[in-house]
Amino acid sequence: MRAQGKGAERVSAKRDSAVGEQPATRPPSAARTTKKPQPESRVALVRRARRINRELAEVYPYAHPELDFENPFELLVATVLSAQTTDLRVNQTTPALFAKYPTPEDMAVAVPEELEEILRPTGFFRAKAKSVLGLSAALRDNFGGEVPSRLEDLVTLPGVGRKTANVVLGNVFGVPGITVDTHFGRLVRRWKWTDEEDPVKVEAVVAELFPPKDWTMLSHRVVFHGRRICHSRKPACGACPIAPLCPSYGEGETDPEKAQKLLKYEKGGHPGQRLKPPPDYPGKPASPLGAQGAG
Ligand code: SF4
Repeated sequence: MRAQGKGAERVSAKRDSAVGEQPATRPPSAARTTKKPQPESRVALVRRARRINRELAEVYPYAHPELDFENPFELLVATVLSAQTTDLRVNQTTPALFAKYPTPEDMAVAVPEELEEILRPTGFFRAKAKSVLGLSAALRDNFGGEVPSRLEDLVTLPGVGRKTANVVLGNVFGVPGITVDTHFGRLVRRWKWTDEEDPVKVEAVVAELFPPKDWTMLSHRVVFHGRRICHSRKPACGACPIAPLCPSYGEGETDPEKAQKLLKYEKGGHPGQRLKPPPDYPGKPASPLGAQGAG
C-alpha cells in the first residue's frame, strides 16, 4: 500500500501544480498568446519511459508471469491456452491437464475428445486441443521432447506465435523478450510511447526505448499495471502511482476514493490469478475451478 500512498501524493502534487499554472486574472485578448504544446523530444520520451519502468518496479517488485507452470512445456501449453481467456481460467484448468499428460509424449497421443473436454473451460477448446496435440507431436518428433530455446524454432510449433515464444524465452530461458498483449499495447499507447496498433510494431518501438536486460520484467510490470490499475474501460487514475508521468491522466476515474475502489487483485485486496503464486506475492492465491468464488 506504500506505493499507492506515494501515488496519491504524486497525484495531488500534479493537481496542485496544474492549478498553480492558471493565471490569477485572464490577460487581455490582444496580449493572449496561444502557445502550442511542444512535441516531446526523443531524449525526453526515453527518460520518461524509463522512469515509468522504475516507478512500476517499486509498485510491483513481485511482478511475474501470471500463469502457473513447473517447467518449459507447461508454460508453453498454458500460454497457448491463454488466448481469448483469463490466466485465472487457464490456471484453474491446467492442474488436471498436466496431471493426465505431464510430457509432450503423453499429450501427443491424447484422445482428442478427452483433451477437448479438459480444455473446455478455456473456450475455443477444439482449436486449442488441436494446437496442443500438434505442438506436443512436433516437440516429440523434431526437438527430442524438449521445448526449444530459439525464437525461430518456437514459432514453427502449431499455435505458437511471437508473443507465446517471447513469454517462454523470457521466463524459462532468460532470453530478453517483450510480450505485447492487449494490456501492454493499451498502456504504451496511453503513455504515448507509440501510436502503433500492430503488436509486432509496438514490440519494435518499445525495444528501442529500453536495453534488452529490461524487456522481460518491463513486460510483466506493464501487464500487472494494466490488470490492477490502468484498466481498459475505467482506469483508476486517482489511485495511479505513475499519474504524473502519464499524458492520459484523467481518461479514467480521478477521484481518489472512487479510484481506490476500482483496484483489482492484491491492490484491491482480492485473490490473484495464480493458484500457486511465487512466495513474494503479497496477495491471496486464486481458488481452484469449481471452488466457491472462483471464476
Ligand atoms: S491512464 Fe490513468 S491509470 Fe492509466 S497510467 Fe495514466 S494515470 Fe495511470
